[in-house]
Amino acid sequence: MFDYFLTEEQRLLQQTARRFAENEVAPQAEEADEKAEFNRELFRKIAEMGFMGINIPEEYDGGGQGSLSTALVIMELAKACGSTGMGVAAHFLGLDAILHYGTSEQKTHYLPPLARGEWLCAFALTEPAAGTDAAAVQTTAQKRGDKYIINGNKIFISNGGEAEVNVVFVKTDPSKGSRGMSALIVEKGTPGFTFGKKEDKMGMRGSVNRELIFEDCEVPIAHLIGEEGQGFKIAMDAINTGRIVTAAYTIGVGEAALEAATKYAKERIQFGKPIGEFQGIQFMLADMKVAVEAAKLFIYQAAYKADNGLPFATEASMAKLVSSDAAMKVTIDAVQIHGGYGYMKDYPVERYMRDAKITQILEGTNQIQRVIIARSLLK
Ligand SMILES: Cc1cc2nc3c(=O)[nH]c(=O)nc-3n(C[C@H](O)[C@H](O)[C@H](O)COP(=O)(O)OP(=O)(O)OC[C@H]3O[C@@H](n4cnc5c(N)ncnc54)[C@H](O)[C@@H]3O)c2cc1C
Repeated sequence: MFDYFLTEEQRLLQQTARRFAENEVAPQAEEADEKAEFNRELFRKIAEMGFMGINIPEEYDGGGQGSLSTALVIMELAKACGSTGMGVAAHFLGLDAILHYGTSEQKTHYLPPLARGEWLCAFALTEPAAGTDAAAVQTTAQKRGDKYIINGNKIFISNGGEAEVNVVFVKTDPSKGSRGMSALIVEKGTPGFTFGKKEDKMGMRGSVNRELIFEDCEVPIAHLIGEEGQGFKIAMDAINTGRIVTAAYTIGVGEAALEAATKYAKERIQFGKPIGEFQGIQFMLADMKVAVEAAKLFIYQAAYKADNGLPFATEASMAKLVSSDAAMKVTIDAVQIHGGYGYMKDYPVERYMRDAKITQILEGTNQIQRVIIARSLLK
């Protein structure tokens, strides 16, 4: 709605993504949720559209687009299937570190297949004792000759077990706290790198999350991203950009719920008229619409700043906070508008509600977003 500032190219991209999402992504969403199956074949189709590399420069076979275009595409994918939006977003989160801090050899080797979607990427920071307190990472990488030896484990990792390329945050010098953290590329199939069970999740069940296990896993020192000790900054930079994309898939889910609720309010007859004619329902729909559109404005603002070289970390936090709280409220209200039917699997709104919940938790919980926003005020 409030998208008058989009370029013709962005408008076209949005329409193309919408058509693709409606035709290819939406039809598999229910089954992916029910079977909790990651649909790699679908990711191949998304790759054929050029969406897996949309934010990668053209010289590396990508689309050369910025945060706003990326957000527009992700929103459309997630509106059709939240899990798909989340899987693509996790890919972007991982490759961001290589894109911004990788050596020219790393970029040349990894970015083109990631852009073409031949390889999938994952971002591995969280550990059993290091969630919100990301600097508490205990996985270590000891330098021995021309290799790093990695030991430890990562949990809840999106695309875990599927991703060919894993950006893994380790301590190269545990005595230095966050300054002793480094980022390493670990390829799937590297000896000593295995996976735990696939997580059985409440929502986003068509995306895959696994534990990553490292037991004397050796990677060449050429797999270090940036410098030793730079890992925490690399992770935070990736997460800042990632929050815009997260906000985008989050509000995609919210928008899907709003559309479903509006449609139902026109069709469901009680007391001889459509329930949409009752003011109680109208007020809910109006508040849902305002929440979704307001969240989009936050996303556009953060993306605009990111694309124009302006500081955007606080804006990205606000976008993620507003979008996920909006998506949670809107999806709950969509279930309410559906009444008892909303609680049944026959309608997609219960899936939307389950999918929305995680968006208040990952990429920094919404408590932490508030901490970040408050800090920016008080500094
Ligand atoms: C489906 C899913 C996908 C994920 N994907 C990835 C991924 O791809 N890569 C990755 O690295 N991680 C991933 N994660 C991990 C996710 O980022 C963490 O779960 C999240 O950061 C929170 O950490 P935690 O679960 O350990 O919660 P905790 O940090 O233990 O937090 C518990 C509660 O305490 C609150 N809390 C903690 N500290 C503070 C504070 N200082 N002030 C106020 N409140 C506080 C939190 O807000 C929360 O409510 C994923 C998680 C899930 C569930």
